[in-house]
Amino acid sequence: MKEPLFSIRMRAARGDRHISGAERLAGADCLDGLAAGMVKRALGHPKGLPDSISLTIEEIDLSRLMRIGLPDIRTVGVDSVAQGRNAALAGLLRAGISEQAARSAMQALAGGAAPNGESMRGAMLVDALDGRRLEFDAARGVRVSRMDLEERAAAVLARELQAIGLNNTHVQEALVLAAKVLHAPGVLAELCWSDDPDYTAGYVAAPCLGYVRFPLLKPRGEDRGGRAFFLAPGTDVTGLYRFLEKQAVLVDRVGRMLPDERWRACP
Ligand code: AMP
Repeated sequence: MKEPLFSIRMRAARGDRHISGAERLAGADCLDGLAAGMVKRALGHPKGLPDSISLTIEEIDLSRLMRIGLPDIRTVGVDSVAQGRNAALAGLLRAGISEQAARSAMQALAGGAAPNGESMRGAMLVDALDGRRLEFDAARGVRVSRMDLEERAAAVLARELQAIGLNNTHVQEALVLAAKVLHAPGVLAELCWSDDPDYTAGYVAAPCLGYVRFPLLKPRGEDRGGRAFFLAPGTDVTGLYRFLEKQAVLVDRVGRMLPDERWRACP
């Protein structure tokens, strides 16, 4: 990537309803092409046409840029949404999240985690022990920002994902986001399923598990989804917001592609 480096990000909404977002880091020569692609994406989202699209471009302080690697990737095969959620629950328990916290976060995502029963614009923060919600604004949550995949790593990842039939923007972007989240101080695990009605897959990510993808975590047509970041009790939430929203992170190494497997359901 050519220096200086810029963060370019897009948010599209209709009224209070978040429609789509995107995050990239790029040199000045790529910004016009990326901006055009982001506007096109905002206008073509299955959640509908936005009534506002914001694009922000800001130079990154290179002396503070952090370089990290992607987690390992595996898929856990499931035959139904119930089985998928049960397997995701098993993953969260393995990552040290209490059953109470994991179940209450899943219930919140399924019912729409924003106060009006819709999806949040960002992620919920959940105490990994008692399940308390810790984000400052329950409609906005925390937005993970200022991250991207370095070009060589992007090419390797595309090749590796291609080989397992998963080379799509959803997976690539979710991996980069999960990589940053797993490097955040205090985060023990992440749970995600999309709010895109056409996309039924989701994942659990944790340092001890890597990025574990479940092809069915919600029914097709459902437009409620979201993300939950589970925090070690006593985490400095203000510092965590600062890291997730402001720290620029470049992913320059891909993880391993682990064999697919099936997980035992939770007791
Ligand atoms: P997506 O994976 O883009 O379909 O997003 C699914 C949900 O994750 C959204 O409804 C948001 O609640 C949340 N989300 C999307 N992008 C971000 C982000 N950059 N930071 C935090 N949460 C996000």
